[in-house]
This record gives sequence, structure tokens and C-alpha cells, in this order.
Amino acid sequence: MDTSFVVKGEITLLKNVPAEVCSRCGEKTFSAQVASRIERILRKRDALPAAALGRVEVTAVDYSKV
Ligand SMILES: [Zn+2]
Repeated sequence: MDTSFVVKGEITLLKNVPAEVCSRCGEKTFSAQVASRIERILRKRDALPAAALGRVEVTAVDYSKV
């Protein structure tokens, strides 16, 4: 699944993360192993190989102004 985190004030989209899906409610979660790998990836985000990186445009919507 794709998921996003805020790193140093910047939204970081993490793509193709292996998730486990609850058979009862369909909620997606990460195993402890994946969660700690996510942590490591985000910590060294600025030093990741170029092939792993991309840019996407993000639209921000202010709920209070809609
Ligand atoms: Zn569940």
C-alpha cells in the first residue's frame, strides 16, 4: 500500500509498502518488521538511492474553508 509521513515538515509518500489486511474489518496494518524498516527508511530519506526517489504534486485542502 501507499502511505505518507511528515519528515522535517515535508510530506513523504512511501509507495508499495507491504501491508497486512485484517480479515474482519479490512484495516491495513504493517508488521513490526515493516514498521521498523519504514522508520529506518524515513530517517535516511535524504541519502536514499536516486532510483528509489520521485516527486509528486500534492493538493492541500483546508477543511475550514470548504
Ligand atoms: Zn480488524
